[in-house]
Amino acid sequence: MTRIEVLRGDITTLAVDAIVNAANTSLLGGGGVDGAIHRKGGPKILEECKAIRNRQGGCATGEAVITSGGNLNAKFVIHTVGPVWSGVDHGKLDVLLANAYRNSLALALQHNVTTIAFPNISTGIYGFPKPRAAEIAIREVQNFLTKQPTIAKVFFVCFDEENFDLYETLLTSRR
Ligand code: ADP
Repeated sequence: MTRIEVLRGDITTLAVDAIVNAANTSLLGGGGVDGAIHRKGGPKILEECKAIRNRQGGCATGEAVITSGGNLNAKFVIHTVGPVWSGVDHGKLDVLLANAYRNSLALALQHNVTTIAFPNISTGIYGFPKPRAAEIAIREVQNFLTKQPTIAKVFFVCFDEENFDLYETLLTSRR
C-alpha cells in the first residue's frame, strides 16, 4: 500500500495530524493557503505564530515551525517557508524548497505526527515552476518515507488542476 496520496481541494478541511502551511518569513499570515489556514483556524494559530516570532524572529526560508491547529480538524499546523522564484541561482532555490519539505517532515516526526498534508509550496504567489516543484516535493517525501516508517500517510493537496495532474502523473510513473 502506498503511503503517498494526491488529493484535489482545500487543505484546511482535512482531519489529519498536521497540515503544512506555505507561510512567509514573518509568520504573520498572508494570502493564498496561508490566509485560508488562518481564516479557518482562528486567532489562536496567529497568537502562537507571534510567540514564535518573538522568540526567534520569524522563520527563515526552508525552515519550519509548529503550532496547534486552532479550530481546524488538524491537530497541528507546520508552518514552512518556501523560496520565492527569481531569475537567479535556481539550484539554490531547489535546495531551499527541498529543505522546506524535509524540515516539515522532521518536525512532524518530533511531534509524533503520523498523517500529514502538504500544499504545493511556493507554486502560488511565490511563482516556483509547478513541474519543477512537484519533482522536488515528491523526491523529498519519498526519500524521507524510505527512512522513516512512523509516518503512515502523506497527502499532497493540490488546489489547482495543473498541480493535481502533475502529481498524479509523476507518482503513477514512480510506483
Ligand atoms: P506560496 O507563497 O508558497 O506560493 P501560496 O499560498 O500562494 O503560497 O500557494 C501555494 C499553493 O497553495 C498554490 O498551489 C495554491 O494554489 C495553493 N492553495 C491556495 N489555497 C489553498 C488551499 N486552501 N488549500 C490547498 N492549497 C491551496
